[in-house]
Amino acid sequence: MEAPGKVNLFFAVGPVRADGYHDVASLYVATDVCEAVTATYDPDLTAGQIMCTVDVVPDSLVDQQQHCGSFDLAQVPVDAGNLAVRAAQAVIEGAGGLPGGVRLHIEKSVPVAGGMGGGSADAAAAIRATVELVSAVTGRETMVSDALEIARGLGADVPFAMTGGAAIGTGTGADLVPVAVGEPWSAVLIADDGALSTPAVFATLDELRAQGRLTTPEPDSLAVPEDLLDALAGQPVTLAQVFGCLRNDLQAPAVELAAHLGPRLQELRLAGAVPMVSGSGPTMIALTVDQDAATRLAQQLRDVGAHAVPTQLG
Ligand code: ATP
Repeated sequence: MEAPGKVNLFFAVGPVRADGYHDVASLYVATDVCEAVTATYDPDLTAGQIMCTVDVVPDSLVDQQQHCGSFDLAQVPVDAGNLAVRAAQAVIEGAGGLPGGVRLHIEKSVPVAGGMGGGSADAAAAIRATVELVSAVTGRETMVSDALEIARGLGADVPFAMTGGAAIGTGTGADLVPVAVGEPWSAVLIADDGALSTPAVFATLDELRAQGRLTTPEPDSLAVPEDLLDALAGQPVTLAQVFGCLRNDLQAPAVELAAHLGPRLQELRLAGAVPMVSGSGPTMIALTVDQDAATRLAQQLRDVGAHAVPTQLG
């Protein structure tokens, strides 16, 4: 089963709530960079046991990072710390257990701790793969609503990884309303040599706001702009209007934590693209006018040693 890595073309973050989470208004858009997960039943494992292995897809962003030495597969847990393992466990428990165990295999294309929801995509693909496996082994069907409930329990980005396409996310990001996509948009994804922890980026946002270096939006002002939704749906909206709507409140704290991202974003602007940090970063996305421009920019960036792939959004 496959599930996509995501970018947020709009990500407005409200004030920190009493429970430590933030309300957001997010425009999630799936990339064509996908994670793949297979689940195989193994009657020789103990009941409910999950064995997880991880591999990297050749030439993907994460493979490019691996080749320059900035990524090591050991960074991805294979025990219950792996979101895909937790997802499979939840499906098996929800189905009343299995007599044997499950071998999960993850093929990664999405950078780890890169702000593209790679772990969430693994979880979504693992839910689907395990649902299929459990019904094949036990003959019992899992309800789609159960699978979505499991997804919500695993993290704010997991429900979107289940649906793909494009969607507005509110609440912590997990309350989804799908939105229409016309022609897919072209862009380049640029992986960084480093990683950023999502909780650390949110904490830095709170700090910068507390210091008055960033303003905090009113909770009731959080909304994805109509112009952006119209443009994504293929309505005639000028590029200037679209670009004016792009927003990621996590970009400033990501740049605060990884200062080299500021000059990189500027270099991408000078190359004629419209760049932004993807989610909590440090992966960057640069929108281009068309697919040819994306292919050219990705090659140009790779020629100077960057990790870049062209992508289609939506
Ligand atoms: P977010 O969805 O919070 O934006 P991200 O895309 O920035 O996350 P992930 O690649 O999902 O980051 O992983 C964040 C951390 O979660 C990793 O550093 C790793 O320790 C842990 N992790 C758990 N499961 C996975 C997985 N299947 N793949 C990669 N990392 C995982």
